[in-house]
Amino acid sequence: AKNCGKNNAKLYSSSLTMQIMSHVQLEVGLRKALQNGELYLLYQPQIDVGSATIVSVEALVRWRHPERGIISPTEFIPLAEETGLIVPIGEWVLRTACQQARLWQHGDDRPLRIAVNLSAKQFKDENLSQIVQSALQDSGMPAGLLELELTEGTLMDDARATMQTLERLRSIGVYLSIDDFGTGYSSMNYLKRFNVSALKIDRSFITGLPQDSENAAITRAIIAMAHGLKLNVVAEGVETGEQLQMLEQYGCDMVQGYYLGHPSPPENIALMLANRPVL
Ligand code: C2E
Ligand code: CA
Ligand code: CA
Ligand code: CA
Repeated sequence: AKNCGKNNAKLYSSSLTMQIMSHVQLEVGLRKALQNGELYLLYQPQIDVGSATIVSVEALVRWRHPERGIISPTEFIPLAEETGLIVPIGEWVLRTACQQARLWQHGDDRPLRIAVNLSAKQFKDENLSQIVQSALQDSGMPAGLLELELTEGTLMDDARATMQTLERLRSIGVYLSIDDFGTGYSSMNYLKRFNVSALKIDRSFITGLPQDSENAAITRAIIAMAHGLKLNVVAEGVETGEQLQMLEQYGCDMVQGYYLGHPSPPENIALMLANRPVL
């Protein structure tokens, strides 16, 4: 850049160019992030309302960039999906989360699920079921304690292929959840056929509670529908005691959000697990 002329210097300082530059740099960096050990996981508890105990813990990835500091997954997961890097990154997340969760198991009557987000690209990868099986085997985690979170977008893409992949995952015995429920294309007909275990109501419906009467109606309807289909319901993004109270009243099975616990390093989760019940 040293021998760039005046015009070029001007060009490079324009914000669009800066954005493109940083996008390219980010991609180059992301390619190396895995091998350099720059990715790590935080874990957020999901609490069963009835027993006030942690029943599941969701793994959420972070990137500690050597120069830019900590980068949020909302910034680099889309890039990872575009470039296909999500496949190796996703496998690393799955293996790391399973290994961590194995350490949390008490071997008593309180089994703890580990929830992992799956992107559409991973879901379409024909090796997915082998990768899942291998991660379970290597970690010693029982299949029923692995929760895979899929979005409606992922499920709606190609009905036949989706059914086949879901069948394979079901036959392994993993617990399947639909993430961000209500924000995508939720066909009741598909819901019935997909045979998942739980719905996670998107945070956007919970945010305005208890004042927002429309979101309250939607939340209540989703809970009723899910229960009619014998599915568990999780409310995401619970930030206040009032919201928790309302969700409890509506019969919501599980809650997750800052009010119950932020995404945290594994040591903090171990402490929370030792202090049951948490509510
Ligand atoms: P998500 O799966 O819907 O995860 C929930 C997001 O909401 C997390 O953001 C979490 O930190 C945040 N959150 C939890 N409770 C609250 C709350 O009470 N209030 C508010 N305002 N936010 C809350 P995060 O960790 O930044 O992750 C963002 C998204 O990135 C995730 O949304 C998920 O779609 C994606 N993601 C994260 N980790 C992975 C991963 O390992 N693989 C894939 N494929 N996607 C991931
Ligand atoms: Ca999720
Ligand atoms: Ca979500
Ligand atoms: Ca999301």
